[in-house]
This record gives sequence, C-alpha cells and structure tokens, in this order.
Amino acid sequence: MNAPDSSTVRLGQNLANVRERIASAAARSGRPPEAIRLVGVTKYASIEVTRALVQAGLGDLGESRPQALWDKATALADLPVCWHLVGHLQRNKVRRTLPLVSLVHSIDSRRLLAAVEQELSLAAEAGGPTSGKPLAALLEVNISGEAAKHGFAPAEIEPLLAELPKLQHVRICGLMAMAALEGGSDRARRDFAALRELRDHLRPLAPAGVSLDELSMGMSDDFEVAIEEGSTIVRVGSALFEGVVDS
Ligand SMILES: *Cc1c(COP(=O)(O)O)cnc(C)c1O
Repeated sequence: MNAPDSSTVRLGQNLANVRERIASAAARSGRPPEAIRLVGVTKYASIEVTRALVQAGLGDLGESRPQALWDKATALADLPVCWHLVGHLQRNKVRRTLPLVSLVHSIDSRRLLAAVEQELSLAAEAGGPTSGKPLAALLEVNISGEAAKHGFAPAEIEPLLAELPKLQHVRICGLMAMAALEGGSDRARRDFAALRELRDHLRPLAPAGVSLDELSMGMSDDFEVAIEEGSTIVRVGSALFEGVVDS
C-alpha cells in the first residue's frame, strides 16, 4: 500500500523545502549545495511513509536504532536506498547491521570499533556480502560534554588516529556530533564550531588512508547553523515529516 496522496504531496514539499534551506545555508558558507548530503532520519515514520519519501526522491536514509534499520531496510529492499546508522550500535547487533549500511555515523568507543573490524574481517574470510571494499564510518564525538551522550571525548580522538591504519575493513572518513540539548542555536553553533575546530586541528595529523573530510552534524532544529559551521552531512528527521499523516 502507498501512503495517502496528501501525505505524498506534503513529503515532496517538505523535502523541497529542506533542500532549499540546505542550499541557502551552503551558499552562506561559500559552498555549493552538493557539498552537503541530506540523510533523512526515518525513526518517526512508518515503512509506508518512508517508502513515499524515497519515491519523492531521497536516497539516503538513517535510523538511530539498529532494529528499526533492519526492519525498514528489509521492507524497502526493492528501493535504491543508502542506509545510515546514526545512533548507538550495541556490539551484539553489529553482525546483522553491517551488511545493510553504507555509512555508520556512530562509532562511539574503541570497543565498538574493534568489534566492527573483527566482524568485517570474519565476513571477508567467509566471502560474505560485506567482503570487498571497507565500510565507511565516522567517529562520534561527545562535543557538548553532556553525561547522557555517547561518543569519544574530544581529547580521545588524537591518540586514536595513529591506530586507525591498522584497521583493514573500516575506513574512518570523518567525525559526527550532536549539539547540546539545551541552549538553543547559539549553543548549537558553539558545539558545531568546536567539532569543526577539532577536525581542522586533527586533519594534518591524520595518517595515510584516514580522512577527516566528513562532518556529520545538524538535525531539524539546527541544520542550517551546522552547515554554516562546516557540516557536510545533515541528519534531518522531523522537518521532513511535518504535516504528514501516518497511520
Ligand atoms: C533522531 C535523530 C536525528 C534527527 O532528528 P530531528 O530532530 O528529528 O531532525 C538526527 N540524528 C540522530 C542521531 C537522531 O537520533
């Protein structure tokens, strides 16, 4: 079944609106709109509404919970979707998640990084579907320092960099963060600027094969600020689903 027509229309409008806002913010930061990748976070949407969003033209989708990603990726396997895991990945969910995703935004501990590398190495030996090119991933940084947030402390990233070339199956290509929950857009801007400054400081120190080009930052309430501060990937959920009736 398809989502109701009015919802399909509204999704298309929301998508166009978000893309326009991305383009304006990109222009303010002196970049072309293509420099920013939009990932639609579908955790609030049913499978049918998610399907309609892909049909409206969005090919990058994200989920914060591995289980929800499995369900949607399975149900929408007939569509050309690049899946992004944007939330915490429990180590016991690594095996089932990795074959489904094109980018993991949320490598938030050394233990998880080691588990992902080990799983991909086993899969490569077995000649499984994930063997072949390395999995792209981002290091999640707890830039706001809030106790409830996952992620590496900013100071942990530099010592970690030297170890990354040992990984044969995971290719780190940038950093991800969320702004503080409280404090509005001024605080968000400071948090995003702090992530970009950390990245700018670390980039010359990155060993061969490790790039810190990508900055995954910005959600519905703050993606324009994030782009102004250098974001290359925004993870937008609720703004895409405003006014969409989901049953
Ligand atoms: C839910 C979620 C988003 C999207 O949030 P919105 O405010 O709905 O845009 C982005 N990133 C992560 C990690 C999320 O969990």
